[in-house]
Amino acid sequence: MRRAWLTVDLEEWYHLDYLDKQACMATGVRVMPDLFEFLDLLDEEGVKATFFCVAEVAEENADILMELLRRGHALGCHGLDHTRLTDKSVAQFQEETIVARRMIEKATGRPVNGYRASCFTMERDKLEALRALGFTYDSSKILFAQHPLYRNLDLAGFEKPEDLVYADGDFTEYEIPTLNIGKYSLPISGGGYMRLFPYWLLKLLLRLYEKQHQNFTIYVHPFELTRRALPLPKDLGFMTRFRCLVGRRGNLKKLRKVIRYLKKRGARFETLEQDRKERGLE
Ligand SMILES: [Zn+2]
Repeated sequence: MRRAWLTVDLEEWYHLDYLDKQACMATGVRVMPDLFEFLDLLDEEGVKATFFCVAEVAEENADILMELLRRGHALGCHGLDHTRLTDKSVAQFQEETIVARRMIEKATGRPVNGYRASCFTMERDKLEALRALGFTYDSSKILFAQHPLYRNLDLAGFEKPEDLVYADGDFTEYEIPTLNIGKYSLPISGGGYMRLFPYWLLKLLLRLYEKQHQNFTIYVHPFELTRRALPLPKDLGFMTRFRCLVGRRGNLKKLRKVIRYLKKRGARFETLEQDRKERGLE
């Protein structure tokens, strides 16, 4: 394994697609302030990560944003309010992105150049709009045919200088990898899957993955990095509750094991901005 990119979608638990945001917000429970334990883990493992922040929570979490920058991590934008891009016009997307970037930059005083679309809903015309706004990299591409939310981002005209990396001029797109098993593609690199699978199974899948890829991208969310109880609505269905809660308790420990395994396999952890620097792009 050559490189590993650890990415975090900085959002609140109530940004989960299947929850009633207003009702969940009203409970007053927040998970973002718990991130310090995770930041310490990254320091202990010598890992620099890339964070994508939902702009509407940037101001109330300015101390965490400042702290992660101070520790050498990179900070990008994960949209204004975590709504899907597929429901917006290009003009609306552009307007919202200008506002979102300004909000995050105001919270830290540092420029924002990277983007990840909520629920990986990036589309080609919006990617072009993003470039026109001066963003230099995006990480929203995922190949996951079975999931109705995810669609494949068209990158016609882009070169592929390296596994999971697509380049057009000085703009870079980073793919979130999946593991191909028969006709299925499993997104083993994060979210619910990493929480659901026990470590021994993840390790087995990573061994298979190494036969298909040289690089790896991990993606996690703050609610997966804390043990804080989530006041989920009582009428939530079993499957949704399961998706929210499975594997949270031991997840930080498991993540540490995965990091150590990847390092042992030769992977170097760096931020997406560091990767661009190495390509002579920053
Ligand atoms: Zn998200």
